[in-house]
Amino acid sequence: MNRILIMGPPGAGKGTQAVAVAEHYRIPAISTGEIFRSHVAEGTALGTTARRYMRAGEYVPDDVTNEMVRERLSRADCGGGFLLDGYPRTLDQVVMLDKMLGERDAAIDAVVALSVGIEDLVERLIHRAGVQHRADDTEDVIRRRLQVYRCETEPLLGEYSARGLLLTVDGTGTVPEVAGRVFEALDARS
Ligand code: AMP
Repeated sequence: MNRILIMGPPGAGKGTQAVAVAEHYRIPAISTGEIFRSHVAEGTALGTTARRYMRAGEYVPDDVTNEMVRERLSRADCGGGFLLDGYPRTLDQVVMLDKMLGERDAAIDAVVALSVGIEDLVERLIHRAGVQHRADDTEDVIRRRLQVYRCETEPLLGEYSARGLLLTVDGTGTVPEVAGRVFEALDARS
């Protein structure tokens, strides 16, 4: 179990769980959102492009995102596997990820989908806005991000379910509670 995706709507707790799972399997946790945020912080050209989309709650264009992930997955630390947090998010990204992995005779082992009700999500995101001061955690942008997730990303769950890879995990409760469920689901598969 060493090539894992973690999916779920904004505010579902993907980032937190991703770190715990990656530590357990000794694989790097790769968050496209985090990579974009560090480019923005460093003021790179990629950061300037990404910032425009992120501030509006929109997805960064697929060609930009795919290229960034291709470069990241080609690094040595991904040789033994990886956990992707927040990628793929569109059907085009699914196709590109399949292609990148196919080139090295690899494939995804499991997709963990965290499920959290809409009310809980909005509450968590508004709380996070107060704590982390993320530029994309204002109420309008939060609403837009949830909408974009529903249109663009939720359909991917059906695709991974059809492939027999989807592990849907209840994302409500404390961080250790959710982590326990994630490990139970992954252990049952391996
Ligand atoms: P996250 O930290 O995963 O919530 O991502 C924050 C923001 O980064 C998203 O709202 C998007 O604007 C952008 N982003 C992250 N991952 C992707 C992706 N796979 N495709 C397009 N945009 C992304």
